Amino acid sequence: MLNTAKRTNKKASERFNFSKERFIRSVGYWVVKAYIRTILEWGQLADVHNKDQRRKNMRAIKSADTSIEVRVRKMLWHAGYRYRLNVKSLTGTPDIYLPKYRAAIQINGCLWHGHNCPQFVLPKTRTEFWKEKISSNVQRDLRSISELKKQNIRALLIWECAIRGNGRLEPDYLLKLISRWLPTDDSLSVIDKQGIRSASLEDLNAQFNEALNFQLKTNPA
Ligand SMILES: [Zn+2]
Repeated sequence: MLNTAKRTNKKASERFNFSKERFIRSVGYWVVKAYIRTILEWGQLADVHNKDQRRKNMRAIKSADTSIEVRVRKMLWHAGYRYRLNVKSLTGTPDIYLPKYRAAIQINGCLWHGHNCPQFVLPKTRTEFWKEKISSNVQRDLRSISELKKQNIRALLIWECAIRGNGRLEPDYLLKLISRWLPTDDSLSVIDKQGIRSASLEDLNAQFNEALNFQLKTNPA
């Protein structure tokens, strides 16, 4: 009777010891697993946050592009010019189209369209992706201008830096440049911080290549 009791006690304590060991071991595993999972999740979170932030930044830049377009539009409207917006029937759907002058005005953000000016900086992360993206924007711009030319429509390209930022043109002066260009028969002109000048598609392509090469040299992938 006594023996049996002892034996059961012993067994119970052995059992207890055994399960205590197992308990400690499994808690140990659990802690390590949770620790690793937390680190991994934080890593993912940080990455998602970066992507989110980047997306937000890019969206902010895009809507800012729209706001410079609005500034030019309002300026023209107040000066009595009448135009159509984003005319889908014209290739490249120019931002502003003035039927009376058969003229399209395109307002380009310096970053998105690769202007050879300080506002165009190739992002340091995913540089190759941005290089491809901006290059394809520029190719599309060039194609649109050449399609407009085929339809006998003249084009005026205004760079963002002429409208906003350090060294931008005075709004009155910008309006004067546009007003002088509209009644001419010049087929392609560009307005930037330096003012207005006649250009060709080759000029536009060359300015982009120069800007891109400069960025790739100062910002190697
Ligand atoms: Zn610029």
